[in-house]
Amino acid sequence: MQIIDLCTHCHHWTITVIEHDSKEATFTCSHCQNTFKMPWDTDTRFLIRSIRHSLKKRTKQYPELKTLKAPGDHILLEERAAPEPSLFKGKY
Ligand SMILES: [Zn+2]
Repeated sequence: MQIIDLCTHCHHWTITVIEHDSKEATFTCSHCQNTFKMPWDTDTRFLIRSIRHSLKKRTKQYPELKTLKAPGDHILLEERAAPEPSLFKGKY
């Protein structure tokens, strides 16, 4: 299974490869090969679903993410102003 996600290790957006047996899932960044493991349970599956869901919104903001198609593809995004209203609006 593959998802497009931000790697917390190399800070690139890459294809994250997910391999799992019935107990454990291994997430591997296809750019820097950083891996981490999580139990393969409903929480993890929900997390993957929510990553996929939030990616749709993010792709509108960062159309470059569409260029990520195969493992090894990676992109470094500059954060743009978020369209969401800021909690700190009006305080500064
Ligand atoms: Zn990485």
